[in-house]
Amino acid sequence: MATAGVASSASINALRIRPCFQPSSKPKSLLSFSISTPSFLLLRSSSQSTSLSHPPSLLFHRSSDLRTKAAAAAAPMASSSLPYERELAVAKKAASLAARLCQTVQKALLQSDVQSKSDKSPVTVADYGSQALVSFVLEKELQSFSLVAEEDSGDLRKDESQETLKRITKLVNETISSDGGYNISPLSVEDVLTAIDRGQSEGGPHGRHWVLDPIDGTKGFLRGDQYAIALALLHEGRVVLGVLACPNLPLASIGCPHQPSLQNEVGCLFSARIGAGTDMQLLDGSSAPTKVYVTAIENPSEASFFESFEAAHSMHDLSSSIAKKLGVQAPPVRIDSQAKYGALSRGDGAIYLRFPHKGYREKIWDHAAGCIVVTEAGGVVTDAAGNPLDFSKGKYLDLEKGIIVTNQKLMPVLLNAVQDAVREQSQAASTL
Ligand code: AMP
Ligand code: MG
Repeated sequence: MATAGVASSASINALRIRPCFQPSSKPKSLLSFSISTPSFLLLRSSSQSTSLSHPPSLLFHRSSDLRTKAAAAAAPMASSSLPYERELAVAKKAASLAARLCQTVQKALLQSDVQSKSDKSPVTVADYGSQALVSFVLEKELQSFSLVAEEDSGDLRKDESQETLKRITKLVNETISSDGGYNISPLSVEDVLTAIDRGQSEGGPHGRHWVLDPIDGTKGFLRGDQYAIALALLHEGRVVLGVLACPNLPLASIGCPHQPSLQNEVGCLFSARIGAGTDMQLLDGSSAPTKVYVTAIENPSEASFFESFEAAHSMHDLSSSIAKKLGVQAPPVRIDSQAKYGALSRGDGAIYLRFPHKGYREKIWDHAAGCIVVTEAGGVVTDAAGNPLDFSKGKYLDLEKGIIVTNQKLMPVLLNAVQDAVREQSQAASTL
């Protein structure tokens, strides 16, 4: 069974992977993403083709003759006439650079003995730094753009934030210069504030809008677990490309813990362009992009499902009753952030269930990139009424109840189970 081994409570803990930080070797430039010689290249074997829509499990092969292919496939800034191809290359570069800053901050956080786990300052620094870097790259590469992003500089402009602002500015400058791709004089604190505030667009149904969550899954980031930098582009209200940088996501399937050779490979970059499928590669750019596909499982009892690690973000009891109706055997796989969409897009699990508590309004930056990563890999993303998500209404998604994600075969049966469970939940609430 394709999802064998998913998620005993022990394996859920095993998913709380400590980040794998490279020793002090100089990082590769993300401006020449993957052009530098990779030592491993990502390929797919055809050994599990019965369980996936397309050939399956991830294998690494040392292969010098494919290095050229990796370089050619990944030269990101080459001009192209394919729709949104250049924009996708810019998005990959921006998200990868932002991920590098976040990794630096998380590494310091996890190594610090004195850092209290409840101290939110590391996430503040990484959030703002990530947004400033993405905005910086978009500005350098595209000059004019509209960006809908989570942060603004209001708090950072206060007197008590000046030390934090200096720290963010230093990190942003260090990250840009460690990459080596932009030969510029260091940004000032005012440049950083301006870059952050370029993210104040409201989005909407017309024109192009970039959509950014600079750190999706901040609670996971603080715990040392999963988080993602999520960047998407809307055009006339539709998501046309998306990138998920997941620094702590193993290259090996998190639904199949039996790939020991891959367990040490951590850090995935998912990228999708409308009509062109979804690719995954190592976040450090050292592997060629390789197509990924959602699982082809048709029998819901064989499916496993993802949900939020945080019970405050999604009703675990409701997903549990849906899983029961479907006959799902495996316990839930709980991880933070849109890494769930990435994992689902490569067939690690079959279903993602998200049911926020009453009153919560979903934001577009929490789903835009994840949505296209899954749909271009052959999956379906809807609300609990079966409607596609509408990203054209500004910062918020107007949703019916929750978000459900799976493959095309399972969606009808999943939707039925969801609607039954939601109805039962409302009836139970009304009898109280
Ligand atoms: P996840 O890690 O999948 O639980 O999602 C993380 C995202 O959930 C964060 O980036 C927040 O934007 C969002 N979030 C924050 N509070 C809530 C809430 N009460 N319910 C649902 N989502 C939330
Ligand atoms: Mg978020």
